[in-house]
Amino acid sequence: MSTPPAGCVSLGDGVLVADSTMAGYPGMNGVFLIPGARPALIETGTALSVARTRAALDAFGLAPGDLGWIIVTHVHLDHAGGAGALSRAFPAAKVVVHPFGARHLADPARLEASARRVHGALLDRVYGSMTPVDGARIQAAEDGARIDLGDRELRILHTPGHAPHHLVVLDAGTGVLFTGDAAGVRVDGMRSARPACPPPHFDRDAAVASMRRMAELRPARIVLTHFGDPGDPAAFLADAEDRLQRWCTVAERSADDGLEAELLRRFAAEEGMPADDPERFAVMGGFESNAAGLRHWLRTRNEERE
Ligand SMILES: [Zn+2]
Repeated sequence: MSTPPAGCVSLGDGVLVADSTMAGYPGMNGVFLIPGARPALIETGTALSVARTRAALDAFGLAPGDLGWIIVTHVHLDHAGGAGALSRAFPAAKVVVHPFGARHLADPARLEASARRVHGALLDRVYGSMTPVDGARIQAAEDGARIDLGDRELRILHTPGHAPHHLVVLDAGTGVLFTGDAAGVRVDGMRSARPACPPPHFDRDAAVASMRRMAELRPARIVLTHFGDPGDPAAFLADAEDRLQRWCTVAERSADDGLEAELLRRFAAEEGMPADDPERFAVMGGFESNAAGLRHWLRTRNEERE
């Protein structure tokens, strides 16, 4: 396609991204359309971004019966929050999710309660409320599962660490790998990847193993949900692992109540986080939620060792 439809930007290889403009900011959270005989959406944005995504798909010319697949990399609300509403708008689409996430899509109450503990008042303003997905439409994808778009095939790979219900999606023909949050986050304006280690399930060893697994695939490109193509996949993944390890080392050496300040002191300037726009960088994997996730990881690990 030469000109992408209104509301979409072409990422090349046929991939379009509809920017969900999460919390009102562009360049933060992507919803990806993979064209084909049975097109697929990868990610759904938040519940609050569904109208914007529908308008973009409409401009693309996608009729309600045309969408074959809605794939979520994991069931956090910035990735799967729109799954219920979009599945109703596109009644032929199967909703693909990690087996550990399937029941949360069918009944999002526990997920929302957990998100409210993490995000507090931000939940209503930034994420919105999830609509359940009809259980008959949900397809729990095992590691290695293949998603048939007719003239294009996507492969699902389980990549726990950020969360146990995380998967990534490889576009087999083009080698483009959609990494969700498994390779970290680099929104517009940041120089480097920020680790994404939120509570309550971040696990460093699993996250590192997943990063190495992604590198071993030798993807031609990677696409971050937050946000877009960060360039050389091998270099980006190596840097992302290095930074994650450094954050975890800082967490191991810091006092619980000083961890957030310590992370900010060491890493904010290095990332290029401007002091005059802190909210944009706090909404997406902010230092506060990362510090909480790291503390939770350390506590869980120490309990297991006792
Ligand atoms: Zn995310």
